[in-house]
Amino acid sequence: MFEDPYTEHVLLTPGPTPIHPRAQQALMRPMLGHMDPEIFALNTEIQADLRAMYGTTDTTFTALLAGTGSLGMEAGFANLVESGDEVLVCANGSFGRRMADMAARYGANVRLVTAPLGEAINPDDVAAQMNGVQMVAVVHGETSTGVLNPVPQIAQIARQHGALLTVDAVTTAGMEPFHMAEWGVDYAYTGAQKCLSAPPGLAPVAISDRAMARYHARRTPTPLWYCDFEGLRDYWERHTYHHTVPVNLHYALHAALRAALDEGMLNRKARVQHVGQAIQTALAPLGFTPYVQRPEDRLPTVLALRLPDGFDDAGVRHALRQRQISVTGGLGATAGLIWRLGLMGETARPAPYRALMNALEDLLG
Ligand code: PLP
Repeated sequence: MFEDPYTEHVLLTPGPTPIHPRAQQALMRPMLGHMDPEIFALNTEIQADLRAMYGTTDTTFTALLAGTGSLGMEAGFANLVESGDEVLVCANGSFGRRMADMAARYGANVRLVTAPLGEAINPDDVAAQMNGVQMVAVVHGETSTGVLNPVPQIAQIARQHGALLTVDAVTTAGMEPFHMAEWGVDYAYTGAQKCLSAPPGLAPVAISDRAMARYHARRTPTPLWYCDFEGLRDYWERHTYHHTVPVNLHYALHAALRAALDEGMLNRKARVQHVGQAIQTALAPLGFTPYVQRPEDRLPTVLALRLPDGFDDAGVRHALRQRQISVTGGLGATAGLIWRLGLMGETARPAPYRALMNALEDLLG
């Protein structure tokens, strides 16, 4: 039976995150048409705020796609890849492999750079395979393993070889400084429900001038009509109809993004570090240890912890869920081996983690 959604719930998953109170309130605003001047004014503010969040230049085109983070991923390959292009994908987890799958579906010859489970991509391995590559794609923070990939170093290699760089910023942008222009990232995307704590259903994207130039040099039209870059510009810049955008989600994302920028990315990063450290210290006596061995490879927003020997993963998480606490286990090869505790947006607060500790002390004695 569907449970009363108004029950207080402690959501510690690596996305979705609890909706920010300002975004929750914004959802109450009355409906307006997607072609209303007020919505265009709202969209313009969202575009400027996204440029601030991604650390872009003033000319970088930013927009919201009407779908989740995966649509952001798909739109990049659909617009920037053509049949026969050489695309190097850093695939050290589920979302890197999803990128490789999508790139191949849009006709790319995919070269994979991998790393052992729980380890970051080695930039030397990227450099070794760059001959003839038109695009490099990398997940900044691999949610499936809690690994942070070295985007600035990979960006430098892509630049040296004249390749575009696509970055999955789903677990990073909005929670810590992201320097798209400085690093040399050409296409970045995230999902509203992650670091921004807005409702799911929007993918904020940023497209560099270089990526736009590549799009304009296409031999064939973008096969994904819904997210065609110029189609998006028709609506976001030329204010002509393309498709009906979900304005209520725009209200909420606008509020959540403003709240994030008001707090400041350095303060948000510090909040993640503070709560992350406290929860690791609290869980250590119970036998939880960091899954990612090298501290520099650890993704701050998704704390991957190896479970104690003999720990009843499914049983404990079921008991927690009965107490209205949601915790996520491993994915694929790490199922039953780790927990992945979210520290994105409103999840990175002491109170929900105190609730987890209290429940665990009760359950595990
Ligand atoms: N990329 C990363 C790193 C993710 O963590 C996720 C979702 O968890 C996605 C992409 C896909 O996003 P969505 O589930 O919003 O489509």
